[in-house]
Amino acid sequence: MSEIQETIFSRIIKREIPADIVYEDELAIAFRDVNPQAPVHILVIPKQPIPRLSDAESSDHALIGHLLLTVKRVAEQAGLSNGYRVVINNGEDGGQTVNHLHLHILGGRQMSWPPG
Ligand code: AMP
Repeated sequence: MSEIQETIFSRIIKREIPADIVYEDELAIAFRDVNPQAPVHILVIPKQPIPRLSDAESSDHALIGHLLLTVKRVAEQAGLSNGYRVVINNGEDGGQTVNHLHLHILGGRQMSWPPG
C-alpha cells in the first residue's frame, strides 16, 4: 500500500483550495481538470484517499463500482453523447502525478488509439 499523504485533491474535497466542481455525493466528487487535455476533461475521485488503483482492496469493490457509475453520470451531464475516454494513470510508469485515485473523463473531440 502506498503511503497515504495529504494531496491537492484532499484539499479540494475539504474546500481548502478552489476547483470547478461539477458533481458531488457522499462517496465521490468530480471537478474540471485545471490543465485540460480535451474540450471536456473532468476528474472523478473518491472522498476516501486511496492513493492508487493498485492500492484498492476487495473491500473497496462497491466504491470502485460507484466511481465508474459516477463517470457515466458525469459524462452524461457534460453532454458527451458521442463518446468519451476514461483513463486511470497508476503509479510512476502509468504517468500518475497526484497520489489520490482519480478517473479522467476526456471528451468533446475524437481521440486516437493507441496513446503515446
Ligand atoms: P495524473 O497524471 O493522472 O496523476 O493526473 C493528475 C491530473 O490532475 C492532471 O491532469 C492535472 O492537470 C490535474 N490537476 C492537478 N492539480 C489540479 C487542481 N488543483 N485542480 C484540478 N486538476 C488538477
